[in-house]
Amino acid sequence: IVTLEKVNKYFGSLHVMQDIDLEIAAGEVVVIVGASGSGKSTLIRCVNGLEEFQSGRIVVDGNELTPHGKGGKSLQTIRTEVGMVFQQFNLFPHLSVHANVTLAPEKVRGLNNARAREIADRLLERVGITDQADKYPSQLSGGQQQRVALARALAMEPRLMLFDEPTSALDPEMIGEVLDAMRELANEGMTMMIVTHEMGFAREVADRVIFVHDGRIVEQGSPQEVFDRPQHERTQAFLSRVL
Ligand code: ATP
Ligand code: MG
Repeated sequence: IVTLEKVNKYFGSLHVMQDIDLEIAAGEVVVIVGASGSGKSTLIRCVNGLEEFQSGRIVVDGNELTPHGKGGKSLQTIRTEVGMVFQQFNLFPHLSVHANVTLAPEKVRGLNNARAREIADRLLERVGITDQADKYPSQLSGGQQQRVALARALAMEPRLMLFDEPTSALDPEMIGEVLDAMRELANEGMTMMIVTHEMGFAREVADRVIFVHDGRIVEQGSPQEVFDRPQHERTQAFLSRVL
């Protein structure tokens, strides 16, 4: 469902994606790990067109992005088909929880209010937020806000979900509830690309772990392969610091 072919990206003279080749199958859960600054966020941001790249191609569910932000219709389609959850929850502060979830389905998918409400109710129930639906984001805990952000993304019925350190801004006691919601989504067969430092979660949920260093995919494989038997010295050095 996702293909990257020889993708290169620069920030000025900084080569942040170096000949990235990546193929992700429908239903696959891929966890991306690597040191700070290795290019993890840039990689997933390229997949939904939030970042331009300079050479190569990216295809998401049949929609092709080409260098220099050229994607046109594809870019619009990709943005409606790909959901993203960020470290900072990025909820609309002036909208209720419920309105945060109904907004895009109404505005972008053109659903009527009743239908959008129905979807929002179902998703908020699913992430365990039903009783908070009329509150504003600032009245919720971080873990609750992040579960709302997940519900909001799912309301677009995405074909692919991207997560960039979704639990890094959370107090430790709230990490579990967000990971549980993600685990459930993975079990339902959602295709997911996840940047996280939660190695226990990665080991349990990932079909594949990708280790990125200096804008390159240095090593990839099953969690057992990458975590228990890393082949590359960069991976070994990284894991010895985080595990
Ligand atoms: P972290 O674990 O800290 O989130 P990361 O692996 O997600 O790091 P990226 O955010 O993808 O790393 O950044 C890769 C490199 O690109 C870093 O050296 C970073 O400083 C640089 N970079 C990121 N965004 C920009 C930008 N908008 N302009 C210039 N340089 C950038
Ligand atoms: Mg990052």
